[in-house]
Amino acid sequence: MMAYDLTLQAVLERALRLYSKKEIISRDFSGIFRYTYGDFYKRTLRLANVLQDLGITKGDRVGTLAWNNHRHLELYFAIPISGAVLHTLNLRLGPEQLVYIINHAEDKVIFVDKDLLPLLQSIRDQLPTVEQIIVMSDTLEIPPCGLANPLSYEALLAGARETFSYPDLSEWDPAAMCYTTATTGSPKGVVYTHRALVLHCLAACLPDCLNLHEADRVLPFVPMFHVNAWGIPFACTWLGATQVFPGARPQAEDICRLIEDHKVTLAAGVPTIWMATYPLWESGKYDPSSLREIVNGGSAASVSMIRNYREKLGVPILHAYGMTETTPVVLVSRPKSTMENLSLEEKYQLSAKQGLLVPGLEMKVVGEDGREIPWDGKTMGELLLRGPWIAKEYYKDPVRSQDSFTEGWLRTGDIVTVDSEGYVGIADRSKDLIKSGGEWISSLDLENTIMDHPAVLEAAVIAIPHPKWDERPLACVVLKQDYEGLVEAQDILDFLRGKAPKLWIPDQVEFIEAIPRTSVGKFYKAALRARFAEAASALQTSEAPLRAKA
Ligand code: ADP
Repeated sequence: MMAYDLTLQAVLERALRLYSKKEIISRDFSGIFRYTYGDFYKRTLRLANVLQDLGITKGDRVGTLAWNNHRHLELYFAIPISGAVLHTLNLRLGPEQLVYIINHAEDKVIFVDKDLLPLLQSIRDQLPTVEQIIVMSDTLEIPPCGLANPLSYEALLAGARETFSYPDLSEWDPAAMCYTTATTGSPKGVVYTHRALVLHCLAACLPDCLNLHEADRVLPFVPMFHVNAWGIPFACTWLGATQVFPGARPQAEDICRLIEDHKVTLAAGVPTIWMATYPLWESGKYDPSSLREIVNGGSAASVSMIRNYREKLGVPILHAYGMTETTPVVLVSRPKSTMENLSLEEKYQLSAKQGLLVPGLEMKVVGEDGREIPWDGKTMGELLLRGPWIAKEYYKDPVRSQDSFTEGWLRTGDIVTVDSEGYVGIADRSKDLIKSGGEWISSLDLENTIMDHPAVLEAAVIAIPHPKWDERPLACVVLKQDYEGLVEAQDILDFLRGKAPKLWIPDQVEFIEAIPRTSVGKFYKAALRARFAEAASALQTSEAPLRAKA
């Protein structure tokens, strides 16, 4: 066979040749912007010329501080096809972490959305490698800011050539990079090669995976600054699917409106957004009927959410799992054809698992002794992965690479079970796992069961130290508005009895207003552990379960 390099250049070319009339829709700063793949292609080549004129050469890192919009999509292609590395900057990181990742990657140029200028300006004098800042707006003007000589994206594009000769690239050349959100320690960088991105696209499009196709109209709520929006912009461009970008600071109402107005067939994001859109759809304010599926990833989708979406809205939730180090898609939960006879409830339980390994990857799950665990749906072990879109190291970080990459496998740090059919269920991240009297307790399973209580909006279960059992679970529960003050800790504990093993029943239930979130919307359990440290010391002196605070 031909020694053919898999690069994003061919992905872009296909979109032009076959789909130049198809549309890209973007919620821009001053309204909805629409253009065709043909126009997108021309602007992307202009942008590649701009990069060249700015002195960007092969291997240089180019930062993007931007929302999900069409300009970001242009950067997604123009940077890698010209041989540079697209470094998406997580705009929700604290200033210290942003400074760290920009300096660690040695970004040469940063493209910034106009409304994020104050954030960049506040750290500008700490970024010695950054030579130029380009401001993205829907006008030629740059809003007043204290930056020295910022350039206007639209003005640069207007003056750039429309033809571009691609540099020779190897599929092993770096195309993009992303840092983990790092709730502890500094973020860790992962570099994606062209080959990894293209092979990941192929796998993501498969019917048993995200089942993407040309006729889809796809809205990625998952930010383009985090793991390439799960690879969706690359895959959709390849297929010529219509892309609908939600723009700056999208709220649940914006998402519902965009889905209804633009007949979105597939939307993707973390559970936080699907919890926020649910009441808007349930009340009939917006129409979700164009959706054939919602992809939920990044954090677990609860059984109750999956059930409600299916039964009340008629929208299936597809549960997918991955991480920054895995480009990211690894597991997807769809029932096998042999499972048609499962009851609806059994199907919901199955959908709440993270699912089956996608073709192209290998996994093993090992116990504390390093031996593979039985696939019995009960025994827990750590998920290890290898394959063509799994990272082999962290960028310029040999020490932390050693901990996570051993003997050709990525240690995910996720503690899972595997059932006899091969469905993987995440019990916990290893750092969140609760170890009580030598037994592992899955906080995710407990949360799932608690969220089935009709009064519960959401729940997070954390470990707190215990003198006798080492650790015990504490449940932090957010009640639905209508139930506030009407439900007691004991009601939650009674609800759990019979549904979870006795040892797993939390010693304590705390009603809180909201569960703290990380920069990408996941439960921030470290913050809860810090908050309830006091409760932990109370437990040291008491064996009896504590009652919830009023
Ligand atoms: P970060 O590590 O920066 O928080 P990642 O997106 O890389 O961000 O997070 C990956 C982790 O998110 C996984 O290791 C896993 O713990 C969790 N995760 C991802 N998808 C799911 C899912 N569907 N269900 C439960 N947890 C998930």
